[in-house]
Amino acid sequence: MQRAGADPENMELSDFICDFSHKAWDGRFPLVEGHRGSLISGDCLTLAYRFVVLEEQTSLEPGYTCTMCLEERKDRCWQSPAYPEAVICLRCIRQGATKLQKDEDWDWAKPE
Ligand SMILES: [Zn+2]
Ligand SMILES: [Zn+2]
Repeated sequence: MQRAGADPENMELSDFICDFSHKAWDGRFPLVEGHRGSLISGDCLTLAYRFVVLEEQTSLEPGYTCTMCLEERKDRCWQSPAYPEAVICLRCIRQGATKLQKDEDWDWAKPE
């Protein structure tokens, strides 16, 4: 998400905030972008990947809306423990993890 009150003509790094941890960006950790400015940090993506892909758990029953793709989803998902309005579906976790792992700017790898 973008910080409330951020000037769209003059965006600063710290105006970009992870929807799942509300951590402001400092340019030193990866962020993956979803629809309409939604963002997830590499750390949150690691937690989501571990929970949903490796442990095969889910936070919510089918029918929730994913914060990243904005679709109503039936697959498993991870809900931010700190900000329950932030939810990421299995598909977005997989896509984000694949994209981030390939990104040479960041030393991020899928957890095992
Ligand atoms: Zn985060
Ligand atoms: Zn999604």
